[in-house]
This record gives sequence, C-alpha cells and structure tokens, in this order.
Amino acid sequence: MINLYIDFDGVIMNTIEVGYGMIKESGREVNSDTCDEFFTSLDWKDFLNKKCSQINDPINSIQKLIDSNLFNISILSHVNSLDEAIEKIKYIRKYFKDITFIPVPKKISKTKMVHTKGAILIDDYAGNLREWESAEGIGVRFSEKLNGKGFYAINKLDQVIDYVKENLKVLNKLQS
Ligand SMILES: [Mg+2]
Repeated sequence: MINLYIDFDGVIMNTIEVGYGMIKESGREVNSDTCDEFFTSLDWKDFLNKKCSQINDPINSIQKLIDSNLFNISILSHVNSLDEAIEKIKYIRKYFKDITFIPVPKKISKTKMVHTKGAILIDDYAGNLREWESAEGIGVRFSEKLNGKGFYAINKLDQVIDYVKENLKVLNKLQS
C-alpha cells in the first residue's frame, strides 16, 4: 500500500478562499500577519460548519480511495491553534469512523511530521509540494483549474487512483 497524505485547506474544504474573503470584508488586506491573526482567533466550529463548503465531493472521493485498497490514507493539515485541530478532526470524523488525522503546527514543515519517502502528498500549495519532493516524496497538486505548477494536477481526490495506476511500478520501486 502507498502512504497517501491529503491536505485539508483548499483541498477538502474552501477554508482559505472563505477566510481571505472575510479578511477583505473586514477592510484589511490579506498578508501573513492578518492571516495569522484571523486564522488563530477564529471560531473553527462555526467557520467549518456554517461558512465553508467542501470542494468537488471530497467525502465520496476519499471513500473511493479507501475502497481501492491502494493506500494508507491520512489527512495532513497545518493548524494555527488547538481549536482548529479539534474542529477539523471532529468534522472529518463525522464522515469517517476510522481515518488518521495528523495536525501539523503551522510553523513546522509537513515533511517533518511523517515519513515522506515514496509517499504521496496531495496539496494545493506548491511550496508544500516542493518541500515534499525535496524529502523524496511525490507531490500531486490539487487545483480546481488543473494548474499543476510543475506537478501532476487533479481537481477531484479520487483522480489520484489514475495517477497511481499509471505509475505503480515507479512507486513500488521508490518504496522498496
Ligand atoms: Mg492547503
């Protein structure tokens, strides 16, 4: 089985887009300071359940990934606060009784939390994918417009099955 890590923000849910919109509505510009402040002080329960929505049917897509028996699946998500971690876990657990969720402190690279070699990361942020590939992992970019920015691009999570089937020999070699 291939270790598969799935990002949350901008892949499973449109939290980034909604968050940026709320920052702009409050009359501030979107920069690293206002984002830090906004996402750290947010009421994540209300934000996830009432303000944000899922992107391209992620729950059914993840179920297809589970049913394919090709992957060990974990959600690997940067978090700004403990509240954010708790509410994301609760959200995912509404749909999946048995899935691994790994919260990563925002200031730590995702590559420092898990084994990366031969593992796939699906992420919308090319910076995370570049770090991942530098650590011998395989990056797949989630992009609604299928803009890969140098990576294989998908806009629905179960499309990674096609990628793996095309590249299974290479992946097996990487993992052995
Ligand atoms: Mg993301």
